[in-house]
Amino acid sequence: MVSRTFKPESTIINVDGVEIGGKDIIIMAGPCAVESREQLFESAEAVKKAGARFLRGGAFKPRTSPYSFQGLEEEGLKMLREARELTGLKIVTEVMDIHSIDLVSEYADVLQIGARNMQNFSLLKEIGKIQKPVLLKRGIAATIDEWLNAAEYILSEGNKNVIFCERGIRTFETYTRNTLDLSAVPIIKKLSHLPIIVDPSHGTGKSELVAPMSKAAIAAGADGLMIEVHPDPKNALSDGVQSLTPEAFKMLTDEIKAISRII
Ligand code: PEP
Ligand code: MN
Repeated sequence: MVSRTFKPESTIINVDGVEIGGKDIIIMAGPCAVESREQLFESAEAVKKAGARFLRGGAFKPRTSPYSFQGLEEEGLKMLREARELTGLKIVTEVMDIHSIDLVSEYADVLQIGARNMQNFSLLKEIGKIQKPVLLKRGIAATIDEWLNAAEYILSEGNKNVIFCERGIRTFETYTRNTLDLSAVPIIKKLSHLPIIVDPSHGTGKSELVAPMSKAAIAAGADGLMIEVHPDPKNALSDGVQSLTPEAFKMLTDEIKAISRII
Protein backbone atom coordinates (compact mmCIF):
# COMPACT_ATOMS: atom_id res chain seq x y z
CA MET A 1 0.00 0.00 0.00
CA VAL A 2 2.95 2.37 0.42
CA SER A 3 4.22 1.69 -3.08
CA ARG A 4 3.82 3.88 -6.16
CA THR A 5 2.69 0.90 -8.17
CA PHE A 6 -0.25 0.56 -5.75
CA LYS A 7 -1.00 4.34 -5.89
CA PRO A 8 0.78 6.25 -8.71
CA GLU A 9 -0.16 9.80 -7.65
CA SER A 10 1.69 11.46 -4.76
CA THR A 11 -0.13 11.65 -1.44
CA ILE A 12 -0.65 15.02 0.18
CA ILE A 13 -1.21 14.80 3.94
CA ASN A 14 -3.51 17.54 5.17
CA VAL A 15 -2.82 18.39 8.81
CA ASP A 16 -5.69 20.66 9.73
CA GLY A 17 -5.14 22.88 6.68
CA VAL A 18 -1.35 22.50 6.34
CA GLU A 19 -0.41 20.29 3.41
CA ILE A 20 2.66 18.05 3.56
CA GLY A 21 3.73 16.68 0.19
CA GLY A 22 2.15 19.57 -1.73
CA LYS A 23 3.93 22.47 -3.43
CA ASP A 24 5.29 24.11 -0.29
CA ILE A 25 8.30 23.17 1.81
CA ILE A 26 6.98 22.57 5.33
CA ILE A 27 9.29 23.29 8.24
CA MET A 28 8.91 21.67 11.65
CA ALA A 29 11.17 23.26 14.25
CA GLY A 30 11.69 23.62 17.95
CA PRO A 31 13.70 22.20 20.81
CA CYS A 32 14.71 18.57 21.13
CA ALA A 33 12.86 18.39 24.45
CA VAL A 34 10.25 20.56 26.12
CA GLU A 35 12.17 21.86 29.17
CA SER A 36 10.03 24.72 30.53
CA ARG A 37 7.20 27.05 29.47
CA GLU A 38 9.69 29.86 28.99
CA GLN A 39 12.03 27.78 26.83
CA LEU A 40 9.18 26.37 24.75
CA PHE A 41 7.32 29.65 24.19
CA GLU A 42 10.51 31.48 23.26
CA SER A 43 11.32 28.73 20.75
CA ALA A 44 7.75 28.72 19.41
CA GLU A 45 7.65 32.47 18.80
CA ALA A 46 11.04 32.37 17.10
CA VAL A 47 10.30 29.48 14.76
CA LYS A 48 6.87 30.89 13.90
CA LYS A 49 8.40 34.25 12.99
CA ALA A 50 10.94 32.52 10.76
CA GLY A 51 8.25 30.61 8.82
CA ALA A 52 7.89 27.21 10.48
CA ARG A 53 4.39 25.71 10.36
CA PHE A 54 5.00 23.07 13.05
CA LEU A 55 6.47 23.23 16.53
CA ARG A 56 8.46 20.16 17.51
CA GLY A 57 9.43 19.21 21.07
CA GLY A 58 9.66 15.93 22.93
CA ALA A 59 7.70 15.39 26.13
CA PHE A 60 8.67 11.70 26.23
CA LYS A 61 12.35 11.39 25.33
CA PRO A 62 14.13 8.19 24.23
CA ARG A 63 17.54 8.75 25.89
CA THR A 64 20.57 6.49 25.64
CA SER A 65 21.20 6.75 29.38
CA PRO A 66 18.44 6.22 31.95
CA TYR A 67 20.07 9.00 34.01
CA SER A 68 19.61 11.64 31.27
CA PHE A 69 16.58 13.97 31.23
CA GLN A 70 13.60 11.83 30.22
CA GLY A 71 11.13 14.61 29.40
CA LEU A 72 8.32 16.42 31.21
CA GLU A 73 5.69 13.89 30.04
CA GLU A 74 2.09 15.17 30.32
CA GLU A 75 3.20 18.50 31.77
CA GLY A 76 5.26 18.98 28.58
CA LEU A 77 2.30 18.01 26.40
CA LYS A 78 0.21 20.69 28.11
CA MET A 79 2.90 23.29 27.37
CA LEU A 80 2.89 22.22 23.71
CA ARG A 81 -0.89 22.71 23.61
CA GLU A 82 -0.53 26.19 25.12
CA ALA A 83 2.15 27.06 22.56
CA ARG A 84 -0.20 25.93 19.79
CA GLU A 85 -2.94 28.18 21.15
CA LEU A 86 -0.55 31.13 21.35
CA THR A 87 1.05 30.75 17.92
CA GLY A 88 -1.25 28.66 15.72
CA LEU A 89 1.66 26.29 15.03
CA LYS A 90 0.78 22.61 14.65
CA ILE A 91 2.40 20.23 17.13
CA VAL A 92 4.60 17.23 16.33
CA THR A 93 5.79 15.18 19.29
CA GLU A 94 7.00 11.66 19.92
CA VAL A 95 4.92 8.77 21.16
CA MET A 96 7.23 6.14 22.65
CA ASP A 97 4.93 3.25 23.49
CA ILE A 98 1.45 1.83 22.99
CA HIS A 99 0.35 2.88 26.49
CA SER A 100 0.71 6.59 25.77
CA ILE A 101 -0.88 6.72 22.29
CA ASP A 102 -4.23 8.06 23.56
CA LEU A 103 -2.58 10.63 25.82
CA VAL A 104 -0.15 11.97 23.19
CA SER A 105 -2.90 11.97 20.53
CA GLU A 106 -4.95 14.39 22.64
CA TYR A 107 -2.21 17.00 22.30
CA ALA A 108 -0.40 16.28 19.03
CA ASP A 109 -1.35 17.11 15.45
CA VAL A 110 1.29 14.66 14.18
CA LEU A 111 2.61 11.68 16.14
CA GLN A 112 6.34 11.10 15.79
CA ILE A 113 7.65 7.55 15.82
CA GLY A 114 11.31 7.81 16.73
CA ALA A 115 14.19 6.05 15.04
CA ARG A 116 14.54 3.59 17.92
CA ASN A 117 10.91 2.54 17.51
CA MET A 118 10.77 2.19 13.73
CA GLN A 119 10.45 -1.58 14.04
CA ASN A 120 8.33 -1.62 17.20
CA PHE A 121 5.68 -3.59 15.36
CA SER A 122 3.06 -3.51 18.11
CA LEU A 123 3.37 0.31 18.26
CA LEU A 124 3.11 0.54 14.44
CA LYS A 125 0.00 -1.66 14.41
CA GLU A 126 -1.76 0.35 17.13
CA ILE A 127 -0.94 3.66 15.44
CA GLY A 128 -2.32 2.16 12.25
CA LYS A 129 -5.69 1.86 13.92
CA ILE A 130 -6.10 5.62 14.45
CA GLN A 131 -6.24 8.35 11.82
CA LYS A 132 -3.74 10.79 13.32
CA PRO A 133 -0.92 11.71 10.87
CA VAL A 134 2.38 9.96 11.68
CA LEU A 135 5.98 11.08 11.18
CA LEU A 136 7.91 7.84 10.76
CA LYS A 137 11.60 8.35 11.35
CA ARG A 138 14.09 6.02 9.69
CA GLY A 139 15.62 3.50 12.09
CA ILE A 140 19.23 4.00 13.11
CA ALA A 141 20.33 1.00 11.03
CA ALA A 142 17.28 0.49 8.81
CA THR A 143 17.43 -0.24 5.11
CA ILE A 144 15.01 1.54 2.78
CA ASP A 145 13.10 -1.73 2.42
CA GLU A 146 12.73 -2.15 6.20
CA TRP A 147 11.56 1.47 6.46
CA LEU A 148 8.96 0.99 3.71
CA ASN A 149 7.74 -2.14 5.47
CA ALA A 150 7.42 -0.25 8.76
CA ALA A 151 5.14 2.24 6.97
CA GLU A 152 3.26 -0.69 5.45
CA TYR A 153 2.42 -1.89 8.98
CA ILE A 154 0.68 1.43 9.64
CA LEU A 155 -1.14 1.72 6.30
CA SER A 156 -2.28 -1.89 6.32
CA GLU A 157 -4.11 -1.26 9.60
CA GLY A 158 -5.99 1.67 8.06
CA ASN A 159 -3.99 4.83 8.77
CA LYS A 160 -2.87 6.25 5.40
CA ASN A 161 -1.36 9.45 6.84
CA VAL A 162 2.32 8.58 7.02
CA ILE A 163 5.20 10.99 6.39
CA PHE A 164 8.72 9.57 6.16
CA CYS A 165 11.59 11.36 7.92
CA GLU A 166 15.21 10.67 6.97
CA ARG A 167 17.33 11.35 10.09
CA GLY A 168 20.63 9.71 9.28
CA ILE A 169 21.89 6.16 9.70
CA ARG A 170 24.79 4.76 11.65
CA THR A 171 27.91 4.11 9.58
CA PHE A 172 31.65 3.76 10.29
CA GLU A 173 31.99 7.56 10.14
CA THR A 174 32.29 9.15 13.57
CA TYR A 175 32.91 12.79 12.62
CA THR A 176 29.15 13.22 12.31
CA ARG A 177 26.63 11.72 14.77
CA ASN A 178 24.92 9.87 11.90
CA THR A 179 25.39 9.78 8.14
CA LEU A 180 22.53 11.71 6.55
CA ASP A 181 21.41 9.61 3.60
CA LEU A 182 19.99 12.17 1.20
CA SER A 183 19.76 9.58 -1.55
CA ALA A 184 16.83 8.21 0.49
CA VAL A 185 14.78 11.21 -0.68
CA PRO A 186 14.68 10.46 -4.43
CA ILE A 187 14.57 6.71 -3.68
CA ILE A 188 11.48 7.06 -1.44
CA LYS A 189 9.90 9.43 -3.97
CA LYS A 190 10.40 6.81 -6.66
CA LEU A 191 9.20 3.83 -4.62
CA SER A 192 6.39 5.42 -2.61
CA HIS A 193 3.61 7.98 -3.03
CA LEU A 194 4.04 9.19 0.57
CA PRO A 195 5.80 12.46 1.47
CA ILE A 196 9.32 12.58 2.93
CA ILE A 197 11.01 15.23 5.04
CA VAL A 198 14.61 15.42 6.28
CA ASP A 199 15.98 16.00 9.80
CA PRO A 200 19.54 17.35 9.35
CA SER A 201 19.87 17.99 13.12
CA HIS A 202 19.95 14.32 14.15
CA GLY A 203 21.33 13.49 10.69
CA THR A 204 24.58 15.33 11.38
CA GLY A 205 24.64 16.05 15.12
CA LYS A 206 26.44 19.36 14.46
CA SER A 207 24.76 22.75 14.26
CA GLU A 208 27.17 24.06 11.61
CA LEU A 209 26.12 21.27 9.24
CA VAL A 210 22.38 21.88 9.58
CA ALA A 211 22.09 24.75 7.08
CA PRO A 212 24.06 23.19 4.21
CA MET A 213 22.32 19.81 4.60
CA SER A 214 18.90 21.51 4.80
CA LYS A 215 19.51 23.17 1.46
CA ALA A 216 20.83 19.92 0.00
CA ALA A 217 17.69 18.11 1.23
CA ILE A 218 15.47 20.56 -0.61
CA ALA A 219 17.58 20.23 -3.73
CA ALA A 220 17.13 16.44 -3.46
CA GLY A 221 13.34 16.87 -3.48
CA ALA A 222 12.33 16.71 0.20
CA ASP A 223 8.84 17.93 1.10
CA GLY A 224 10.04 19.58 4.28
CA LEU A 225 12.53 19.73 7.11
CA MET A 226 12.62 19.02 10.83
CA ILE A 227 15.14 21.25 12.61
CA GLU A 228 16.10 21.54 16.28
CA VAL A 229 16.09 25.14 17.56
CA HIS A 230 16.85 26.18 21.15
CA PRO A 231 16.99 29.70 22.65
CA ASP A 232 20.16 28.74 24.57
CA PRO A 233 21.76 25.69 22.91
CA LYS A 234 24.74 25.58 25.31
CA ASN A 235 22.42 24.94 28.25
CA ALA A 236 19.97 22.62 26.48
CA LEU A 237 19.00 19.47 28.40
CA SER A 238 19.37 17.43 25.21
CA ASP A 239 20.93 17.79 21.75
CA GLY A 240 22.33 21.29 22.32
CA VAL A 241 25.33 20.77 20.00
CA GLN A 242 23.07 20.17 17.03
CA SER A 243 20.51 22.89 17.85
CA LEU A 244 20.35 26.19 16.00
CA THR A 245 19.89 29.49 17.79
CA PRO A 246 16.76 31.41 16.75
CA GLU A 247 19.03 33.81 14.80
CA ALA A 248 20.76 31.03 12.86
CA PHE A 249 17.38 29.43 12.15
CA LYS A 250 16.00 32.72 10.77
CA MET A 251 19.03 33.06 8.48
CA LEU A 252 18.46 29.53 7.23
CA THR A 253 14.74 29.98 6.53
CA ASP A 254 15.51 33.22 4.66
CA GLU A 255 17.87 31.24 2.43
CA ILE A 256 15.32 28.46 2.02
CA LYS A 257 12.66 30.99 1.01
CA ALA A 258 15.02 32.22 -1.67
CA ILE A 259 15.37 28.73 -3.18
CA SER A 260 11.82 27.44 -2.71
CA ARG A 261 8.31 28.25 -1.59
CA ILE A 262 8.05 27.97 2.16
CA ILE A 263 4.53 29.12 3.02
C1 PEP B 1 14.10 13.59 18.21
O1 PEP B 1 13.47 13.97 17.21
O2 PEP B 1 14.38 14.33 19.18
C2 PEP B 1 14.63 12.20 18.24
C3 PEP B 1 14.86 11.56 19.38
O3 PEP B 1 14.87 11.73 17.01
P1 PEP B 1 15.36 10.28 16.48
O4 PEP B 1 14.29 9.32 16.89
O5 PEP B 1 15.47 10.50 15.01
O6 PEP B 1 16.68 10.01 17.16
MN1 MN C 1 16.85 15.50 19.60
